Amino acid sequence: MAVPKRRKTRSKARMRRAHWRVEAPTYAACPQCRQAKMPHRVCSNCGYYSGRQVVETE
Ligand SMILES: [Zn+2]
Repeated sequence: MAVPKRRKTRSKARMRRAHWRVEAPTYAACPQCRQAKMPHRVCSNCGYYSGRQVVETE
């Protein structure tokens, strides 16, 4: 495996890490119950996905 010949300077490491940041998660309203849910995930409130119930909720 290729191994770096030289250590990156503090400045270069900081430049690279300047792009790391925590982003606020995106939410979309559930079409079934209007609760905020993550896109492309089953709704944790009503258990619906793609217009049908896929997991049981109480
Ligand atoms: Zn829902």
